[in-house]
Amino acid sequence: MEEYAYIQTIFNYIGIAVDKKNHNEIVVNYPVFYTKKNKEYSIKGYEMNTRPFGTFFADFINCDFTLETDFNNFFKKYSISLLDLEKFKRIFKNNVCSEETYNRFVKKLMEDNFKKLLKLQEQLDMILDYCLINPAPKVSKLSPIERLYVLERTNETFTIFNSKKIEFVNIHYFSKDAGNSEKEVIENLIKKKTDIGSIDLLIPHSIESILYMQLCDILKDDISFKTCKNCDRYFVAENKRIEYCNELAPDSNKTCREIGRKKKYYDNIKNDKALDLYNKVYYRKAQMSIRNPDLKNYVEDYEYFKTFGKKKLEKYKSGKITSEEFINWINKNI
Ligand SMILES: [Zn+2]
Repeated sequence: MEEYAYIQTIFNYIGIAVDKKNHNEIVVNYPVFYTKKNKEYSIKGYEMNTRPFGTFFADFINCDFTLETDFNNFFKKYSISLLDLEKFKRIFKNNVCSEETYNRFVKKLMEDNFKKLLKLQEQLDMILDYCLINPAPKVSKLSPIERLYVLERTNETFTIFNSKKIEFVNIHYFSKDAGNSEKEVIENLIKKKTDIGSIDLLIPHSIESILYMQLCDILKDDISFKTCKNCDRYFVAENKRIEYCNELAPDSNKTCREIGRKKKYYDNIKNDKALDLYNKVYYRKAQMSIRNPDLKNYVEDYEYFKTFGKKKLEKYKSGKITSEEFINWINKNI
């Protein structure tokens, strides 16, 4: 299969394909560029981006589709063409579109679709609540995915259960410049200049079908789906220990993960009596030594604590001495 042919298949639906084996989702879209001078938008061609599988679900559930900027950002990240590819192609004449036309197009898309999207979000919230976050006592003995089965069997109002269509595509590809004539192709293969690869892709036919697929993986715990401890937004964690998302924190130029790392460090110290005492004593001795550089006692005292305290600290951290032993040593050297 030629590269463009399968991209065309992805574009026929929602611009997303899933590579389950590598836990990725592949997003194909037409990035839109704005030129201030001409007040127009332009497109240059399609682009492919790979993200951890489940990112779409987290982004979808986090988005406030009633806000124009949120709506716009979401469909820029995925595919603004996702909801109306034909119209999208039509408004870009020679790859250019005026600001006014483009804004009108997005506004219309939003008006036509936000109710449907909100309804889907509402359903996902209810399903997650029932299956994962707040299960009722009567289903407490069931696993999250079994709870989903209960909902599917008994609740007809959830439209997300109705469209699960996903296409399976297996692609074999050759590396570029594999040769043209039979002789060239054979030679390149013998000389190992050509690679033949293969990839299995799942192509969801609708937003509902990718959301359903990812929902099941979240409930089966194949995707580590979490709430960020800093911003409260949902995110996909690379491993179970991660507690903060990698997005920019609200009103900050740092990511929640960067903020979280610092917070955790200070929380750990606060909760650790020995470490807290060590830091306080260390800080006081350092201050005394800086303020009184002429007094040999203070300087020597600080140097002693710095050298031997560090060794004790390492022993404490590696579990070779207990908290009490460490505290006793600090108190003896105060
Ligand atoms: Zn966050």
